[in-house]
Amino acid sequence: MSAQARPVFDFPLRTRLFIDGSWCAPETRQRLPVVDPSTEETIVEVDAGSPADVDRAVRAASRAFRAWKQTSGAERAGFLRAIARGVEAHGEHLAALQSLNNGKPIAESRIDVGDVIATFDYYADLAQTLDVPEEAIAIPSSDHRAVIRREPAGVVGLIVPWNFPMVTTAWKLAPALAAGCTVVLKPSEFTPLPELELAAIVERAGLPPGVLNVVPGTGTEVGAALTMHPLVSKVSFTGSTAVGEQVMKAAAQSIKGVSLELGGKSSIVVFADADLNLAVDLVVGGAFFNAGQMCSATSRVLVERSLAPALIARLADRVARTVVGDPFAAGVQMGPLTNRPQYERVQRFIARGKADGASLVVQGEAPDGAGYFVKPTMFVDVPTSSAVWREEIFGPVLCVRSFDTEDDAIDAANDTEFGLVATVVTRDEARGERMAGALQAGVVWINSPQLIFPQTSWGGYKKSSIGRELGPFGLAAFQEIKQIVRAAAVPD
Ligand code: NDP
Repeated sequence: MSAQARPVFDFPLRTRLFIDGSWCAPETRQRLPVVDPSTEETIVEVDAGSPADVDRAVRAASRAFRAWKQTSGAERAGFLRAIARGVEAHGEHLAALQSLNNGKPIAESRIDVGDVIATFDYYADLAQTLDVPEEAIAIPSSDHRAVIRREPAGVVGLIVPWNFPMVTTAWKLAPALAAGCTVVLKPSEFTPLPELELAAIVERAGLPPGVLNVVPGTGTEVGAALTMHPLVSKVSFTGSTAVGEQVMKAAAQSIKGVSLELGGKSSIVVFADADLNLAVDLVVGGAFFNAGQMCSATSRVLVERSLAPALIARLADRVARTVVGDPFAAGVQMGPLTNRPQYERVQRFIARGKADGASLVVQGEAPDGAGYFVKPTMFVDVPTSSAVWREEIFGPVLCVRSFDTEDDAIDAANDTEFGLVATVVTRDEARGERMAGALQAGVVWINSPQLIFPQTSWGGYKKSSIGRELGPFGLAAFQEIKQIVRAAAVPD
């Protein structure tokens, strides 16, 4: 691991709460250490909010909502574009913070920055379309006139995880602001640094005080208080299925809306007619990008039996040669896992896979010493009852099984409580389309890497999601629908 590759972080790091347009201390003076996952050293301590700080932030957002909801779509589009330009201008700084705090290779952090810019620009365009006064609804055989208006949902709570800080935030924040909502954001306790810097960019874009508030802190203190706060109209959450369930239960107490983006256990289905080079690239990208810490990881490989020996041999070679190390070093393909609990969890899964009788084909190299580095790992002939086949691992662990017929592949891919994404690799276009129709997943890629365009949609079937992010769906998640019926004439 090359120590010289690390940039010097000579910029000031944001460590305070951002409430009502000011960087402020928490009521309790609690602090949280933020750890560099490559070295296990504390980078800095950030202020940790408490329920009292959540209350302050929600009340500021509630006051700000009165004026913000009256702004035109065009005005809000102007702010969103200014944020996109601010992210662009500070892109390298944000990417470096992301790699420092999350551990992903710097090239991946730059992709994240590009995604954030594209998301703010897209929702700026969409906000611009909101200035149509009302949509007329045709009602046959009535002289009454009905119209539909879309109004902002109110104060919204955004709770985001640590695997794609900034990106998951942008997917929620941009549509929430476009819709005219005001926001209290809770970053993950593990990765507050990029989120706080993003807040500073939003501040510089001139957003009125209280429109965005950021309260770092723990899930049990800040997250739970935000979910239960009576002035919060809606919670949008990305994270684990277990916490998603808690968020939904807590939100039920005050009947607030929830959007949930939870786990996945997704498949990549490789047919015998696939281009082998493409298949290898798509399997590796789908399983090891961000060290596999993706809800969309296609970590289950289903390969048609006749192609299995060739694909497994090629994959084993690629997995073994994965360059793991410092996210800032040239040529590094995989950084450490983002935090210690995740590091320990992934090690437990690898041990479970071995104990359950899966064949360990390769456990690749990883640097010795400090840091949450896990060797990229590949199992074949994985029993379908094994936890490594059924549960979301969220780490660099690939599991391979063979299939005989298209129907077998569909059944195996759909045999999961999740339904987020799937990838199909085949030269047969008709088969690709049949598979896209049969797979229970919110996103299907055919011969394609995991491209996500802000114009489309994000979310899945079954336990993977409630609602959809991105596209017009992401905006609609932060809107209320109001119908107004007008009598044709008021009798004298
Ligand atoms: P969590 O679901 O615990 O964390 C996600 C966010 O929710 C964090 O901001 C967390 O805060 C917050 N949170 C935690 N408890 C509560 C609560 N009671 N009420 C409201 N908010 C809360 O995920 P983990 O970070 O623990 O990761 C565990 C597993 O979750 C992973 O192994 C992976 O399988 C899955 N996961 C899925 C993600 C996805 O994109 N779908 C993303 C991240 C994880 P804090 O960080 O302070 O605990």
